[in-house]
Amino acid sequence: VAKRLEKFKTTIFTQMSSLAIKHNAINLGQGFPNFDGPDFVKDAAIEAIKAGKNQYARGYGVPDLNSAIASRFQKDTGLIVDPEKEVTVTSGCTEAIAATILGLINPGDEVVLFAPFYDSYEAVLSMAGANIKCITLRPPYFSVPLEELKSVVSPNTKAIMINTPHNPTGKMFTQEELEFIAELCKENDVLVFTDEVYDKLSFEMDHISMASLPGMFNRTVTLNSLGKTFSLTGWKIGWAVAPPHLTWGVRQAHSYLTFATSTPMQFAAATALQTSDSYYEELKRDYLAKKAILVEGLEAVGFVVYPSSGTYFVVVDHTPFGFENDVAFCEHLIEEVGVVAIPTSVFYLNPEEGKNLVRFTFCKDEATLRGAVERMKQKL
Ligand code: GLN
Repeated sequence: VAKRLEKFKTTIFTQMSSLAIKHNAINLGQGFPNFDGPDFVKDAAIEAIKAGKNQYARGYGVPDLNSAIASRFQKDTGLIVDPEKEVTVTSGCTEAIAATILGLINPGDEVVLFAPFYDSYEAVLSMAGANIKCITLRPPYFSVPLEELKSVVSPNTKAIMINTPHNPTGKMFTQEELEFIAELCKENDVLVFTDEVYDKLSFEMDHISMASLPGMFNRTVTLNSLGKTFSLTGWKIGWAVAPPHLTWGVRQAHSYLTFATSTPMQFAAATALQTSDSYYEELKRDYLAKKAILVEGLEAVGFVVYPSSGTYFVVVDHTPFGFENDVAFCEHLIEEVGVVAIPTSVFYLNPEEGKNLVRFTFCKDEATLRGAVERMKQKL
């Protein structure tokens, strides 16, 4: 394997999902719903396939989807973007992240990351040869340590990556935190790459997009996808919204990474995004019920559950159960209890910082959530 990838192992999600199958354990690890996406979206895909929309799509997205993304972005942020010049469709948000980093970051560029971070950020930053500066968000609230951030950001900083609502903690960046970051970016001429794939799963507060803050659109790449919002994580439809000068870099990388994304799925994604807001309200209601089952269950089992404002994840402190670290705890949980969670130490540059924390997802039907809680009550 190439040197730049040597330190990265099989992703924790792949590892944990295969262990779940091997041990016949209930999988509250990898974040994918165990229920299906809505029929109107699936039907739109079938129709697109039957209508012969099966050859390469335009590289940066089929026009219908670029327009639907621009409309959605306007509804969400109030910003009018040009679907032809400022929207790029990618194969999932993971590709949008890769295209953004590879398209805009030079070897040696400083990029600020908040730990815990979604694993692909660090891997792709390494592929790009970035110089990672990491700031740790700490429990219980995982708030941004403002002064520490200020001391790390300088005119040498090229970009700050944020993720709100945040995987794995469920933290949402507050208006105050976003404004502080925005000021630092403007003072030091820094870009923001913001992963907002859980924006529609914001429960305790309103989601705020960095791009909507005064003067920020011009220096921000907003990344999003279809998968979480429409329970279709296997479709791998994502996108990047950015001003033309940043879109240029994203598209150049995208052109040579995947060139284009699945054509019929893009047509179906356009149909999905045109849905009425009541879809999102119902989604939130469903998830709130699931969240309550998991959070109350985990507390009853004896975990310290940290507050999660958004995403379909919660992070807990497992130390009341006496295991050495998160990996040892998760191994026991799979093998002896029959439940899968994600150890969080892989989401830190320094794994020690995550050793007390594990992540559970509640994107499962209620019976599955109750079943997992029951197993933990009996066997942990
Ligand atoms: N985003 C999903 C999660 O955090 C994982 C996706 C993947 O496996 N790459 O669980």
